[in-house]
Amino acid sequence: MSKHPGKSRHIETDLIHAGAENHIAGAVVHPIFQSANYLMSEESSYDELRYIRLNNSPNHHLLHKRLATIENAEAALVASSGMAAITSTLLAILKSGDHMLSHKTLYGGTQMFLEEDALPLGIQHTSIDMADPSGWEAAVTPQTQLIYVEGISNPLMEVGDLRAVVDFARKHDLISVIDNTFLSPVNFRPVELGFDLVVHSATKYLNGHSDLVAGAVIGSTKLVDRVRVKMNRLGGSLDPHACFLLERGLKTLALRVARQGDNAMRLATFLESHKHVRQVHYPGLESHPGHAWAQELFDGFGGMLSFTLHDVAQVQAFLQGLQIPLHAASLGGIESLVVQPARSSHLGLKEEERQRLGILQELVRVSVGIENIDDLLADFAHALDNL
Ligand SMILES: *Cc1c(COP(=O)(O)O)cnc(C)c1O
Repeated sequence: MSKHPGKSRHIETDLIHAGAENHIAGAVVHPIFQSANYLMSEESSYDELRYIRLNNSPNHHLLHKRLATIENAEAALVASSGMAAITSTLLAILKSGDHMLSHKTLYGGTQMFLEEDALPLGIQHTSIDMADPSGWEAAVTPQTQLIYVEGISNPLMEVGDLRAVVDFARKHDLISVIDNTFLSPVNFRPVELGFDLVVHSATKYLNGHSDLVAGAVIGSTKLVDRVRVKMNRLGGSLDPHACFLLERGLKTLALRVARQGDNAMRLATFLESHKHVRQVHYPGLESHPGHAWAQELFDGFGGMLSFTLHDVAQVQAFLQGLQIPLHAASLGGIESLVVQPARSSHLGLKEEERQRLGILQELVRVSVGIENIDDLLADFAHALDNL
């Protein structure tokens, strides 16, 4: 546990207790404060008024403390979705005329925001490969303010040279932002490495039960406050009931992520040896190009993997042959999910663009759940053997 500098407690403990020191009316579980507004007290600014849209009910305060603690950061802010967290962050930092660098395969919603919304507002971006620092210097302009990467990218599970990203950002005075959704703070705490801001779709691992949509922004008090004030105006607040469910989900994050990582490693190893599988993308495998970085920086490799079949005609039969994983988008829940990225998350891209990015029709993505691994292995073996 040497990878938790400056902390006396472990993440398993903080996930349950951090921020919940006040037991209201003796309740073991922090109750839901279903009140839109609160009595006036000594507020000296608009952002101090107590109101759900300003993300400052007791349910929000608890989550902010807990999320900051588990990411080993000063401050955190919850949002109504991962996209609310991401768009509020980018709009808080960038203005018309500014430029940013971003990894070439981002979460689809983020990429669409950059193309369809940020560009018309005058905010430009240049795609870089987060695994290859040799191309970054040439992409920087005097207007560049920010560098944006993902801890593990979708759907090819790429891992970047994240230490180089932090050094590069410092050298060029850029704000470094990382989407840490796929890893969760159990596997990686980017602020410890020197990232300025971490964003999450809390819909995924942080909540872990596929029953709400939420987001989070985590980092220094100064930067998180900048995002908070912007989000107060944009309106991306999280409802107290969703706060309550997210807090409940967080308590089991360490258990879930540990099991998902174990299951994913076993499944990836099995798939790599199967004759109908051409290539497996999982950072825990030695064959993965980012394996050495993942091993150095992460405490676990996560529960997401993808693989290609030899023949695109086999994909539908394979998906239909599976009994346990559900055929659905999204990820990070306790149930295993399978999806064909070219027909779901990356359906919006042109075929040649998908080819260029390596997102082939034969690619299948798996969000590995916490089911019994022998049952999962038997199910995948059965579906593959029948092809
Ligand atoms: C799902 C996801 C998002 C968007 O989050 P929402 O909660 O759906 O708004 C952003 N980044 C990554 C990596 C995701 O998987």
